[in-house]
Amino acid sequence: MKFYDLSVFWESNPYAEPWPPKIEFSSSEDEAIILAKKLGLEETDFQDGLALAVENVTANVFTHIGTHCDAPIHFGPITEGKPSRTIDELPLEHFYGNGVILDLRHKQPRSGITIEDLETSLEEINYTIKPKDIVLIMTGMDKYIYTEKYLNDQPGMTGEATEWLIDQGVKLIGIDTYTFDRPFGAMVEDVKVGNKSALFPAHFVGRKKEYFHIEKLANLDKVPVRHGFTFCAFPIKVKDGTAGSVRAVAMID
Ligand SMILES: [Zn+2]
Repeated sequence: MKFYDLSVFWESNPYAEPWPPKIEFSSSEDEAIILAKKLGLEETDFQDGLALAVENVTANVFTHIGTHCDAPIHFGPITEGKPSRTIDELPLEHFYGNGVILDLRHKQPRSGITIEDLETSLEEINYTIKPKDIVLIMTGMDKYIYTEKYLNDQPGMTGEATEWLIDQGVKLIGIDTYTFDRPFGAMVEDVKVGNKSALFPAHFVGRKKEYFHIEKLANLDKVPVRHGFTFCAFPIKVKDGTAGSVRAVAMID
């Protein structure tokens, strides 16, 4: 079995996150002093004077950092007329299954990915989506993660294309951009010229039809096949959470 890591880091980088976390590392030496004080001991009580290294996330401790899955509650309080499910309520079976990679790397910056775009990329790989397939949208934006392009120039899913995938029986969709929709700046520009439905149309499809999406995937180009592989990305169990970090992996026998 070969494993392909499709995740980005949790890290403090302003080009990788709109609100980057602050991560402060504490070494074994530092922790010997801190933990000894907490436990009422001497630092020399630890073997070699070294305790347990840790790090503290001290700002923007946000469940939507790094590669993560958005739960229906993130999209709105009601899904399909019922209370929306939270990340801890989503069955694990949805996060393990047949992966399909659709190549949308030709899309223009800030443009919307349409139903026709999805159909064309499926024709290119001669594949028809089956219910429960996990569809992974490859824009190639992960290659720009440490540049200004990453947060500003990505294409994004349209509401129509998202709904079309859900109608094919897809429950989980992944994308290698920081947000599933077009970038914040592009949506805001559209609102300012009078388009009232410009904000988060793809996210908001989740109010009408339940689905989940993973944002900030990476390395989809490293997977040597476009389908016929297993995708796996279990979200961490944030109680009542709107999202959870995942370690996204493609596996090939
Ligand atoms: Zn999110």
